[in-house]
Amino acid sequence: LINVVGLKKSYGSNSVLKNIEFKVYPKEKVVLIGPSGGGKSTLLRCLNRLEECEGEIEFEGKNIVSVSSKELQVLRRKMGMVFQQFNLFPNMTVLENITFAPVKLKVSEPKEAERYAHELLRQVGLDDKADAYPQSLSGGQQQRVAIARALAMKPEVMLFDEPTSALDPEMVGDVLDVMRRLAKSGMTMIIVTHEMSFARDVADKVLFMDQGRIADVGDADYIFYKSENKRTREFLSKVM
Ligand code: ATP
Ligand code: MG
Repeated sequence: LINVVGLKKSYGSNSVLKNIEFKVYPKEKVVLIGPSGGGKSTLLRCLNRLEECEGEIEFEGKNIVSVSSKELQVLRRKMGMVFQQFNLFPNMTVLENITFAPVKLKVSEPKEAERYAHELLRQVGLDDKADAYPQSLSGGQQQRVAIARALAMKPEVMLFDEPTSALDPEMVGDVLDVMRRLAKSGMTMIIVTHEMSFARDVADKVLFMDQGRIADVGDADYIFYKSENKRTREFLSKVM
């Protein structure tokens, strides 16, 4: 589904992504781990072109590194993104948050968007909150709304950048449960997380990013238990 070849990104003279290469197959769950500043967020932001970058990102057969702004819109629709900060629209209800973009971008008719929003809210366990405003929800609930909002666009792939890092510990489980269920449903997912037991459970492939490179890659069993890469072991011994 996605093929990244020779991807590079610099901020001035600071080279933050150096020759990144990996593939994402349909339905695959790819988890990015690694030390702070290693380039994980930058890589996600390059994938959906929130950042300019060099090299090749092939998505559905097209190199998306240089696409027109019109194509960029279509691209963003196909890649749902969930951030650490939920960024819900504060002046809209939960339901409006979810239906706004699909209706505006004509992905769905208003009636259908509303029906689907309720279905998604049921999936994330929040159908009773459809008419609530974001500030009346807990962080975990807001993040689950943010996931529902991204899913409302019917994306081909979902990108998550530390979706639970800003949450109180007791909220983390609910969000991870939603993500586990989404994984089981067959969604293609690329996930940056520090939740190592979650990573181990869902990942088909783990990329260990360090200093702008993919320093180690393999399935969860390899990365968490078998890899003899010194940096991987060092990092995991600190976080597990
Ligand atoms: P963390 O685990 O802390 O979120 P990360 O792996 O996501 O870290 P990035 O946020 O991708 O790391 O940052 C990689 C490098 O790029 C860092 O050295 C950072 O200082 C630099 N960087 C990120 N965003 C910018 C920016 N907008 N301008 C300049 N430098 C940036
Ligand atoms: Mg980051």
